[in-house]
Amino acid sequence: MAQEMTFSIIKPNAVKKNAIGPIIGKFEENGLKIAAAKLTVLTRPKCEEFYAEHKERPFFGELVDFMTSGPVMLMALSGDNAITKNREIMGATNPAEAADGTIRKLFGDSVGENAVHGSDSPASAERELGLFFEKSEFVNQ
Ligand code: ADP
Ligand code: MG
Repeated sequence: MAQEMTFSIIKPNAVKKNAIGPIIGKFEENGLKIAAAKLTVLTRPKCEEFYAEHKERPFFGELVDFMTSGPVMLMALSGDNAITKNREIMGATNPAEAADGTIRKLFGDSVGENAVHGSDSPASAERELGLFFEKSEFVNQ
């Protein structure tokens, strides 16, 4: 299987509830490595650029308000089939529909405040990683 990198965010609701540790634990238990990481607060322009594909959605303003409301953990995850594997570990977008044991089931509060982001394709992973990390920051692939 292909060695890949994907982009992950631990969202403000999960950072607030002290769930960084258990969420990273899920990634590591499932064979993904943290290749790069930073704890930061997203600026509004950067967040709007990141979520540009959702600009016309009715929830866009609310999504940007939430994602800039507190610290987030930005990560590059690496491993075999990392993009799809991460989406499986995360669970469905709506925590109410997420499978048992997934991060969104365990730590999500609502469809908006769903604890984590993960890239949905190789093209998204490349774009999203490039928005937040320099190549030299991938130190543990
Ligand atoms: P995913 O994060 O699973 O890839 P999407 O790309 O469809 O999901 O949506 C991006 C983010 O927008 C979601 O993770 C969630 O935080 C928010 N979102 C999606 N749908 C809704 C909704 N109906 N109401 C509020 N927020 C939403
Ligand atoms: Mg998405």
